[in-house]
Amino acid sequence: MAIDFTLPQEIEDVRQWVRRFMQNEVAPAEEKLRREGAPREAWVRTIVELRQKAKQIGLWNPHLPPEWGGMGLGPTAMAFVHAEAGRTTVGPFVINAQAPDEGNMHTLLHWGTPEQKEKYLRPLAEGLCRSCFAMTEPEVAGSDPTLIRTRAIEEGDYWVLNGHKWFASGARGAKFAIVIACTDPDADPPQARNSAFIVDLPTEGWHLVRTIETMAGEGNHGEIWLNDVKVPKENMLGGRGQGHLLGQYRLGPARLAHCMRWIGQAEVALEMMVDRALNRFAHGSFLADKQAIRWMIAESAMELYIAKLMVLHAAYKIENGLPFRQEVSMAKVHVANTLWRILDRAIQVHGALGYSTDLPLERMMRAARAARLVDGADEVHMDFIARNVIDIFKETGKVKAALGDLM
Ligand SMILES: Cc1cc2nc3c(=O)[nH]c(=O)nc-3n(C[C@H](O)[C@H](O)[C@H](O)COP(=O)(O)OP(=O)(O)OC[C@H]3O[C@@H](n4cnc5c(N)ncnc54)[C@H](O)[C@@H]3O)c2cc1C
Repeated sequence: MAIDFTLPQEIEDVRQWVRRFMQNEVAPAEEKLRREGAPREAWVRTIVELRQKAKQIGLWNPHLPPEWGGMGLGPTAMAFVHAEAGRTTVGPFVINAQAPDEGNMHTLLHWGTPEQKEKYLRPLAEGLCRSCFAMTEPEVAGSDPTLIRTRAIEEGDYWVLNGHKWFASGARGAKFAIVIACTDPDADPPQARNSAFIVDLPTEGWHLVRTIETMAGEGNHGEIWLNDVKVPKENMLGGRGQGHLLGQYRLGPARLAHCMRWIGQAEVALEMMVDRALNRFAHGSFLADKQAIRWMIAESAMELYIAKLMVLHAAYKIENGLPFRQEVSMAKVHVANTLWRILDRAIQVHGALGYSTDLPLERMMRAARAARLVDGADEVHMDFIARNVIDIFKETGKVKAALGDLM
């Protein structure tokens, strides 16, 4: 029998370790900052202090191999680490596994030349700098990267970049950006039009015009104009025309890492929902005794359980070199929507308190809305999922292979 849901002891140990660190160190520090309404600088100071503690005990770069100062965990083990760290807001930053740096580290590890790795991956892995990823543009649909207008033109030993990007998370303060730009507008297929570049920051011609205010506040999502930004030729990341491929490679594990963190958030919301239901009394009984509320709890539990299985199975496929895009897309849509629904139910069960800023639920819900857009909007993933189901049915007369090929 090949299926074994038992966690290897070393992964269980890591899970417990991360859980304890988040519970004992990160969550209390975060609560204190919130209680005090601390300014951004105080949050940064606290994150830096917590990072030192995490680094000292070896809870650092869980996703990187040991030669890059990491814990060498694969995607399946990372699911547990992210789910624990994702229960807090700053947890992923504290262990240096935050978006977009984690995705950029994976990308550099896989696509970087030895020189690029030493120059850019090394300081990122050591926590000495931050980075951003600039692909989306305001003028064209981010869902279709073949439309990217930022142009890179060869001039002597340089590529010269001109264009307009936005929603580059982490742009302010980033030491470098991975920029996707069009090098070959007539390439066929159109997926071969783009290439990736590492841009040192700050640099002449790179204008961070603002960080975009969103419904979740100011999240350091940069809007940038690139005016004749000169990038040395050796800073092309991956081959010419491989920008799309690199983006897809980066987004596979990155999407799943988001799902893992969202599972942590959804679990917190469900725990709050149950706790409130057990303690709030109305119309002759506690809310936890009322069928309408029990249904919400049951639905949330089932959806979260499915979410966990989907994420673990997709992680297993990545880890074992199996095709994973269908499973990652399905997990991404399911988990993003599960998070939204569970938060909505948790607010409902808390009544006015849930809607107030006295609890974190409203903040979590505002942040969760982005989950249905980032790393591919729901509809784009759904279209991809349906296409696979239809194609596989046409090929085999069955749909099994498009559903994780499980049973
Ligand atoms: C919080 C946040 C952080 C982000 N961070 C980054 C980052 O670090 N770097 C970066 O480059 N980008 C980032 N993005 C941008 C994100 O990747 C894009 O928002 C996303 O790719 C969608 O592109 P768009 O916003 O241009 O929407 P559009 O492509 O214009 O799509 C709008 C809507 O159209 C619909 N749609 C699109 N295509 C289809 C289709 N084929 N079928 C049916 N419906 C469709 C969907 O409903 C979609 O939501 C971030 C976005 C957010 C909200």
